[in-house]
Amino acid sequence: MNKKGLLVILSAPSGCGKDTVFQELRKVRNDVVESVSATTRAPRDGEEEGINYYFKSESDFQLMVVNDELLEYAKYNNCYYGTPIAGVEKAINEGKVCFLIIDVQGAQRIMSQRPDSISIFLLPPSLEILRSRLENRCTNDEDDINRRMAIAEKEIHMASSYKYRVVNDDLNECVEKINEIINVELLTKNSKEII
Ligand code: 5GP
Repeated sequence: MNKKGLLVILSAPSGCGKDTVFQELRKVRNDVVESVSATTRAPRDGEEEGINYYFKSESDFQLMVVNDELLEYAKYNNCYYGTPIAGVEKAINEGKVCFLIIDVQGAQRIMSQRPDSISIFLLPPSLEILRSRLENRCTNDEDDINRRMAIAEKEIHMASSYKYRVVNDDLNECVEKINEIINVELLTKNSKEII
């Protein structure tokens, strides 16, 4: 695999703004791409095959598992999600910074399988602020918010296993920090190759 690209794992609790952060990062650098995952969950309104996900039947997904086509996969909310190897390899070979925006289970697998990857955990400024962001985003379903908050607290306990932790308080500052992390990692990686 060409070492010029970079594999970046990005995880964050629900409501922490990981998709917005990634979209903003794309505006400041043109070398970032997001890996398109395969999933057995049904498409939501507006989601497109090959853009948001590769939508698979359960048997087709299992075939991808058996054929070793996935870098990792996890079961989340009764559906399977996995990262196809082919897309990641293509992006890295093209020298891209390839983001895997995945849950903490999948992230742990990639970290152990791919020591060449770097990992970033996005933290909310506080649990109170996370709750209020979820309350603003979700309809007033208190149970759903409580469930997400319980998952978030467990996920935040995993944050120490990530190489970098960035607080998403001010969006611009957060994007700037991630941009700096990528610059430093690319510099380190490419200078090691020259040596
Ligand atoms: P959603 O159904 O809301 O699109 O995604 C549900 C969860 O699955 C999110 O936490 C998302 O980051 C995670 N996810 C999406 N793709 C993958 C993947 O390829 N592998 C893993 N492990 N998690 C994924």
